[in-house]
Amino acid sequence: MIRRFDGDTLLVATHNSGKLGEIADLLSDFDVTVIGAKAMDLPEPVESGTTFVENARIKAHAAAQATGLPALSDDSGIEIDALDKAPGVYTADWAETPQGRDFVMAMTTAHDRLVESGAPEPWTARFCCTLVLAWPDGHDEVFPGRMEGRIVWPMRGDQGHGYDPIFQPQGYDVTFGEMDRWKKNRISHRADAFAKLVAGCFAR
Ligand code: IMP
Repeated sequence: MIRRFDGDTLLVATHNSGKLGEIADLLSDFDVTVIGAKAMDLPEPVESGTTFVENARIKAHAAAQATGLPALSDDSGIEIDALDKAPGVYTADWAETPQGRDFVMAMTTAHDRLVESGAPEPWTARFCCTLVLAWPDGHDEVFPGRMEGRIVWPMRGDQGHGYDPIFQPQGYDVTFGEMDRWKKNRISHRADAFAKLVAGCFAR
């Protein structure tokens, strides 16, 4: 039996204001006050897990324990089949430089590795998103979401963020980088996970 959220305040365990805004929008139909980890001055825990679920659990439980509030976290990334599902949980790491994140570099790395692997196209891949809602008593609920597609080259489109310009979702002939943001947010891996979260924990 899934535990329902019956509080009035939800802590979102992210320091990313974009993610916080997206989550607040998605929960705007419910009577919930959403606050972010930055507003509560919470430290960012080390994401030492090897799966999206492990990392999302680390973030949600750390925030719930520190505040005594139910906490929601999100961990996401892209899995490329011909690269043994890399970069996976290391999706953001592939973009790290001493000057900050460089996603053109990360996408070029993905493409170079695909070419080196000799794998024939289509280069199937998926975006994954795992949401974890954790309570201060240690209970949690886990909601995985995914969007299947393939890696294309060269990069196309300047909408979105991260790896969007090289990801073409299944059933579409445009990349996420070329897709209208509202449309992407209706079909994405995050939308999939959110629909499950809302149905399980929020909808009456
Ligand atoms: P996290 O913030 O630790 O979950 O890292 C997620 C990584 O996956 C970031 O580097 C994002 O750029 C990438 N990512 C997740 N979702 C998307 C998406 O919808 N489009 C493009 N990149 C994404």
